[in-house]
Amino acid sequence: MKRQPDFAAHGRAVDRVLAGRLSAALARPAAQQPGWPDAERAAEVIELLHDAEPIVAPEETARLRARLASVARGEAFLLQGGDCAETFAGNTEPHLRANLGVLARMGEVLAEAAGLPVVKIARMAGQFAKPRSRTVDALGLPVYRGDIVNSPECTVAARTPDPHRMLLAYAHAAGAMDLVRKLCAEGLEEPLAAQVVLAGARRASSPGGRPFPDFGRPPRPAEIYVSHEMLLLDYERAVLRTDSSGPEPRLSSGLAHFLWIGERTRQLDGAHIAFAELLSNPIGLKLGPSCTPEEVVEYVRRLDPHRTPGRLTLVSRMGHAQVRELLPPIVEKVAASGHEVIWQCDPMHGNTRTSGNGYKTRHFGHVVAELAGFFAVHRQLGTHPGGIHVEVTGDDVTECLGGAAGIAEADLPDRYLTACDPRLNADQSVELAFAIAKMLR
Ligand code: PEP
Ligand code: MN
Repeated sequence: MKRQPDFAAHGRAVDRVLAGRLSAALARPAAQQPGWPDAERAAEVIELLHDAEPIVAPEETARLRARLASVARGEAFLLQGGDCAETFAGNTEPHLRANLGVLARMGEVLAEAAGLPVVKIARMAGQFAKPRSRTVDALGLPVYRGDIVNSPECTVAARTPDPHRMLLAYAHAAGAMDLVRKLCAEGLEEPLAAQVVLAGARRASSPGGRPFPDFGRPPRPAEIYVSHEMLLLDYERAVLRTDSSGPEPRLSSGLAHFLWIGERTRQLDGAHIAFAELLSNPIGLKLGPSCTPEEVVEYVRRLDPHRTPGRLTLVSRMGHAQVRELLPPIVEKVAASGHEVIWQCDPMHGNTRTSGNGYKTRHFGHVVAELAGFFAVHRQLGTHPGGIHVEVTGDDVTECLGGAAGIAEADLPDRYLTACDPRLNADQSVELAFAIAKMLR
């Protein structure tokens, strides 16, 4: 059993009542947690992290809350994306720059098409923990749970959960956040490949249509927030501060601006939901095909008790074949409840499959098809299709099939670099933004 640190002992940072509620939340059953082999060492690391400096500033998170309120009201669009799993080795300036750049370019295309501001949130600066469907792999080794827990190499030593990695994750996240701030302040440039795609799209779509933005101008400062899955609770419990700015005192997490709960950890009686209830950060919740409208209304009641527009982002990931059938009753029931949530579509996780040559992949066409279903459902119901949540990278990888370059199964081994799920590459990502642009018009 893990040792629960005594939060009441840290009253200077966390109010006593909240500390009690936090302990109660963390005492609930938590899915997808590693069994640390050395509980003493884990407790020491948790203690060290508890006193760490926030990675994000509360004022930034407050600004994101205001931006998301405008998304919920239909006055803005939310673009969230990045790696499925960040890695320590991949935490480099070129990679972060490429991923921020692709988000910025997608954002430009979407803003132009929607005629609305686009709020951008990267899966970055802390996206190191992964939920897994199995606890052991085909070799009988403990599964890789992300760099924050263990290492992907196929040895018992590498796969044994190591709590020290939480300190490395924190340091990498803090370094990444510094870089995000610097790169955003400088402005993000487009690599040539994207300019070519954009120029082609401009030529193909401009006559008679609305003019495309001028991508040739010098870069302007960008506003991009950071997010990760709120999965590994021994990490997430760190760097919490009392936030009395809202209708009730809550805890502000200094680990990211935005946190989401994954499909595998959304148990209503579990620790993740109870923990998220206590946070003042905006929260996302993934909803897979097994989710019922009644459950969703319960989530909304629990996670948005003060009916705060944009407090909760509901991220449907139903799969292209089911979205048109499964999403409407959920949207109708939540809309009738009066809560102003953000409806976001993750068109990736319901469309994962294994290729003939054994790669976990997704087809670009299925991603587009799920988004088309999502937009159609919201158009029909008169609700705002608030945003998308995608796994994308600015790097030239070959992980997802299809798109204009026609990536085929035989191409997947060329540059299949993801540490977990397949990402759209830079060209596929911008192509997706243009496909969505058509749906938004
Ligand atoms: C993810 O976003 O990488 C993920 C694991 O998603 P989900 O929880 O929706 O399966
Ligand atoms: Mn993923």
